[in-house]
Amino acid sequence: MTSEDQDPHAPIAAVSASADVLRHPEAGEHLLTAVERERAARFRQESGRLDFTAAHILVRLCAARLLGVPADTITLAQNCPDCRKADHGRPYLPDHPDVQVSLSHTHGVVAAAAGRRPVGVDVELTARSGSLLQVAGRVLAPAELQQVEAHPEPGRAFLRQWVRKESLIKLGRTTLDGLAAVDLSALPLDVPPGRPLRSRYQDLHLVDWTDPVRGAVICAASTAAPRIVVLTPEAG
Ligand SMILES: [Zn+2]
Repeated sequence: MTSEDQDPHAPIAAVSASADVLRHPEAGEHLLTAVERERAARFRQESGRLDFTAAHILVRLCAARLLGVPADTITLAQNCPDCRKADHGRPYLPDHPDVQVSLSHTHGVVAAAAGRRPVGVDVELTARSGSLLQVAGRVLAPAELQQVEAHPEPGRAFLRQWVRKESLIKLGRTTLDGLAAVDLSALPLDVPPGRPLRSRYQDLHLVDWTDPVRGAVICAASTAAPRIVVLTPEAG
């Protein structure tokens, strides 16, 4: 154990297949609030509903682990700073204002984080790297764009920077319009599968993760070094 691992303020970030979250012994739609259930019901596709539900459960499991309380005691709320609606926007725990949370869902895979420091987490499918690459020119700093274009797998290289930048947005450090001003070109682009890669950007700690089984890349960012846990049904 390093001293980093013992930081009591270090956020827990978890990644899992949506189906595995829903099979977790503590999981269930009963954990969701009425607002969340209504939002879940609006998904046209069942898979979208399940990914949404799994992410909203996984963030409760993270917060429950951090706080040492049962998941069914955690209430999650959201607040949109733009339109003030409560069914989307930044997630928070009304009963635990000292705990910060973040969540992300994509097709079949979800990620979530909870900590006593600002935290942002993002997950994307490796399969999306080709289509996402189209926005590279708008969201990368010039040095990052050069690196991505020179990389043997530009789509994969871009996806790594994209999840890092998305996690910084969720942390509240930047916005979609400000992404090109964030220059992460000093960070390595290749993250070996199954091993966390830790790096720094300004005062932030980033942890990158590549999940070859679920075909996903994940980044969690915080002012304290996040710990990554992979939630599997066996691990409980
Ligand atoms: Zn809104």
